[in-house]
Formats: sequence, C-alpha cells, structure tokens
Amino acid sequence: MQKSEFVQKNNQVNLYIHIPFCKSKCHYCNFISFANKNELIESYFVALKKEIEFYLTKYQDIELETIYIGGGTPSVVDFGFYKDLFNLLSGLINISPKAEITMEINPGTVDLDYLKNIMNLGVNRLSIGVQSFDDKILKFINRIHTSEEAIETVKLAQKAGFENISIDLIYGLPEQTSDSWEKTLNMALTLGISHISTYGLKIEENTEFSRHQPKNLPDDEQQSQIYLKTIEILENKGFNHYEISNFSKKGKESRHNLCYWKNHEYFGFGLSAHGYLNGIRYSNTENLEEYLKNPTKRAFENLVSSSERLEEAIFLGLRLIEGINIEEFKSNYGIDIRQKYSKIIEKYINYGFMAYENHMRSGSVCGNGQFSCEAGVESLKDGFAGLEGLNSFSQKAHSHALKLTNHGILLSNSILSDFLA
Ligand code: SF4
Repeated sequence: MQKSEFVQKNNQVNLYIHIPFCKSKCHYCNFISFANKNELIESYFVALKKEIEFYLTKYQDIELETIYIGGGTPSVVDFGFYKDLFNLLSGLINISPKAEITMEINPGTVDLDYLKNIMNLGVNRLSIGVQSFDDKILKFINRIHTSEEAIETVKLAQKAGFENISIDLIYGLPEQTSDSWEKTLNMALTLGISHISTYGLKIEENTEFSRHQPKNLPDDEQQSQIYLKTIEILENKGFNHYEISNFSKKGKESRHNLCYWKNHEYFGFGLSAHGYLNGIRYSNTENLEEYLKNPTKRAFENLVSSSERLEEAIFLGLRLIEGINIEEFKSNYGIDIRQKYSKIIEKYINYGFMAYENHMRSGSVCGNGQFSCEAGVESLKDGFAGLEGLNSFSQKAHSHALKLTNHGILLSNSILSDFLA
C-alpha cells in the first residue's frame, strides 16, 4: 500500500485502539461500550490482533508517534492481553522511543501492580475518567467509584511512576451547582496532575438520561458561565487552555488528540474505531458480533475530497485556542482563509467572537516597531494592516492565526456551520 502524503512527509503516524468493555454503563454515555460482555474479551483481542496485523504489515517502515488505548474502560481488561498486543505491535511496526502512549483507566478498576505492569509495557500517559469529585453526583450518573477512590487512583498512578496524568471532568450535571463544580476543579488542582479535560454534559440519544431526562440541569446560560469560570480558574493555576475542552501544563498537551485537531492521519483499530489514512476516512462496524466475525472489514470508507479536507481543517483547527495558522493553512490547502471567508470572518470579528492573533515565538525580536512583542488580538482591519508589516519580519519568527475568542467558543457550533455552509 502506498504511504499517504502526510505519512510520507513525516514518516510517522498515530494509532487509536478501541476497547469496548466497561464495568457498568454510565447514565450519560453513548460510547460503544458494554457492561455485560466481559466473556467476549478473549475473542475480542483475537479479532483485534487480526485486524492490526492485516493492516500494519503494510506499513513496516514508518514509526508510531502516539498510541491511544481508549474505550470503554481499557483497564477492565487483564494486563496479559495488553502484553500480547504490545508484543504484536512492536513486532510489526517501529514505535518511536519518544512515543506518547496513553491508556484510559477508570477508578475502581486498577491496583498498583496493574499500573506498574502497563507502565513497563510502555504506557506513559494515563487518562483517568473521574468526572466529578462530588459523591452525590457520581452516584446519580452511575459511576462505579466514589470521589475518594478517584483520588486514590490518581495517587496510585503517581506512586507507580506516571508523571503524565490527565483527568476527565464533566460540568452541567444534574444537581451540580457552580459551587460544587468549583470544588471539583479545586480538588483536581490539589492532585499534581498535568492535564484536565472538561466536557459540558449533553444528553445523547440511547442513554439512560435520554430515556429519563434528569431534572435540575443547568441551562445554557449557566453552562456558559461555568465554562468561562473554568477557564479562569485553570489558567490562574498555570494550565494552558489549548483546545476548547482541554487544559494542560506546559508541554503536556495530548499529542495524540492534537493529531486529530491538526487533521493528521491515524490508524483506528477495534469495534467502531475511526481512522484516516491515505486521504480516506474510515470506520469499523459498531456491531460486536460482526466485528468478531470479520475484523478487517471496513464498515465505511470515504475518500476525502479537497473541499471536505478544507472544511475539516477549519472545523478542527478552530477548536484549537491558538487557532488556524494562516500561512500553514495556505501551504497545506492552497487557500488564503482570510480572503475566501472574509465576510464570515469580518462578521464574527465585529461580534467579538473571532480574532486575528500574532504569535511571537520564543527568541524573536521585534523588527520595525509595528507589532508589540507580546501576543495580541487585533481587529480585522488591524489584522490586515499588520500583514504588511509581517512581510518585513522573518516568517519563522511570526505566525498569524485566526481563532475563536472565549465567547466565540460558546457559539462554536453555529460559527463553524457558517464556515461549512
Ligand atoms: S466508563 Fe466511560 S465508556 Fe464506560 S459507560 Fe462510563 S462513560 Fe461510558
């Protein structure tokens, strides 16, 4: 198989593996995961290895830059299955010595030995599903653990030697006050973790919450206030808000997830997994029995057209707080985003929902006094005027980006759909 343009250029690729088993089903969850099929774990791993072997043998001369084992709850699966899986992977493809290897785990499913074992396999980043440090809320959403067990899991992970730990938190939960949310955030901040993902609750189809809609959900205005407060609290404590829902300490951004947002290619293996390779987006079946029978069959494949590619790049790029780098965008897609979308951009800049921003990379010196050495948001008019000045700078020293403002992020769905219309 031919290597894609992206893989050829970078000689590296990312890999996602889906593990669809859980201890019980959370009331808000519509991920493809099962709480009552653990007897199928063994056959699932047979199928998974078959799929991986079938596709990866074609890519022996590239390197895996990130591996992400998500789910489901990957940590309900015995360590032995991962030992086999990693043996297979390392026999098939090079794994970069600097690869970021993440596993999602849940409190109440791991002990110290398990954590040490996965670390010895090469897992160097944990994403822990905490969701809340409020026991009443945890019970209401049907999590299997208490707040104390979540804290204990983070401490065990640190004891095992993990330095790169992320936790997931959900806001906008039933019965959750801003006070309770702030307590959850403050508890997270005491734990010495390096990454926090915060998601606003959405009532998704086929969930317990869609069947029995909970009362006392915060309205949109309250959710927005909570979101803005979250940014304020976490930034004040040294977390960099780098993506709509994600905050990290310096250098601890999720490299794997950045590959999605930067529209890079990746393998996706396992039930319902999605991948993007050789310009083709694909997904696997969501039906477990079908997957076990024929794990190499793709359920869906779409050769991404150049206009789709462009739309995806905008849609994904605007999720990043640094926004879309205009020069990079031009070189990747052959289009000047400022010109092509000038009317939409102007409208949202006037509303205060979008902005142009100059990034001054470290070690740069201001050349002609037109720009401040500090990153600054400009109006559209200033943005274009600034570009003339930019030509007299080293292009390496500056980039000029288009981004959503914090208030724009709150309306990101409708703003993005305007770009895609
Ligand atoms: S543990 Fe995660 S994947 Fe499993 S049911 Fe709960 S939210 Fe869904």
